[in-house]
Amino acid sequence: MENICTLIEAKWLIPVVPSNTALENHALAVSDGKIIDILPRDAAQKKYNPERYISLADHALIPGLINTHTHAAMALLKGFADDLPLNEWLNNHIWPAEGKFVSNDFVYDGASIAIAEMIKSGTTTLNDMYFFPSATAKAAEDAGIRACVGIIALEFPSAYAQNFDDYIEKGIRVHNKYKTHELISTMFAPHAPYTVSPEGLAKISQLAHDMDLQIQMHIHETTFEVEQSKTETGKSPLANLNHAEFLNSNLLAVHMTQLTDAEIALISKKGISVVHCPESNLKLASGFCPISKLIEANVNVCLGTDGSASNNDLDMLGEMRTAALIAKGVSGKADAVPAHTALEIATINGAKALGLADKIGSLEIGKQADITAIDLSKIESAPVYEPISQIVYATTREQITNVWVAGKQLLDNRKLTTLNEPELISRANEWKLKISAA
Ligand SMILES: [Zn+2]
Repeated sequence: MENICTLIEAKWLIPVVPSNTALENHALAVSDGKIIDILPRDAAQKKYNPERYISLADHALIPGLINTHTHAAMALLKGFADDLPLNEWLNNHIWPAEGKFVSNDFVYDGASIAIAEMIKSGTTTLNDMYFFPSATAKAAEDAGIRACVGIIALEFPSAYAQNFDDYIEKGIRVHNKYKTHELISTMFAPHAPYTVSPEGLAKISQLAHDMDLQIQMHIHETTFEVEQSKTETGKSPLANLNHAEFLNSNLLAVHMTQLTDAEIALISKKGISVVHCPESNLKLASGFCPISKLIEANVNVCLGTDGSASNNDLDMLGEMRTAALIAKGVSGKADAVPAHTALEIATINGAKALGLADKIGSLEIGKQADITAIDLSKIESAPVYEPISQIVYATTREQITNVWVAGKQLLDNRKLTTLNEPELISRANEWKLKISAA
């Protein structure tokens, strides 16, 4: 018998790679934070002597969900300004509130609250863009979740930074602090083509190349953004970025609700990953990212919740369902984005976009043990003909029972192991009192 850290057996094991597969009565052997074996349950019991043995008789194991675009700290602005179009929401409500309240403490508390919600929803990796990224990184580190923290850049002053160079310098400090960290990584995160100048984007492009980092940016979020760019420059933002040689496989383009067929071909040719945030786009009435066309064109499409102020939850299971359903509605094809594709978008495709596909995104031997367990014994899930379909179309996040990141258990029977949930709820309420009194 081989001594290992943990053996997790479950009714179904959905590795995601290979695609559309559900192994029945299998076990995952975990040691030193990695998956070291996947084998039938009976064989596992004969082969391994685990320190911890977990039997999940009615559950499915999936790779931890990857939220490829969020603004975690905005959890403190959840429900603060609802039912407004993007420009009015951002200019008249969100930016003024952020101007008054955003600080290191705001971001640490907000990010911690968001991370607690994400862990309870089966998310094991987040890709963030927000002010005070050092506070988000610290919150992720304290919670034990995997995170890519954006080196945010804008060209207006905020409580965080005075000007473009200040944003970049502070972000690079965060990068340097975490560059050898097991769970925390960084990428450049210019906010949008309308808030960062072409000169600023050229500097970021050069730095990203020199530092071998990726870039995420909101692009083509609304028709207003595209029309304004055409009025001012004669071209769409994407055409301008192409002209500036900004488009390549290190770019994560977030939203992309307005795309012509020629632009889809360009995105495919350049190897850009598209981050689909369907619920944020629906709530702000921004439009629909044409993901089935993008997938047909071999574009890597991944999934994000965006921030809590425009979603308003950080529920990747719900996001997957929304992505699958609106892809059908928008394309007029019921077979667009089938359940297993929706699960890939929420896992392995996010890992590819983040440059982490060798570590996460699927349950494979040698990968990190980032695992989510879902209880399919509840009435809402009975009967189970096809577990992947059941997870995408009929499962809610309350059915997520256990979550591990790099072999460390962060959720145990729905209880957070690294975060104090009642304390986080009271901190959320304290911030609400301050913000609504202003
Ligand atoms: Zn966003």
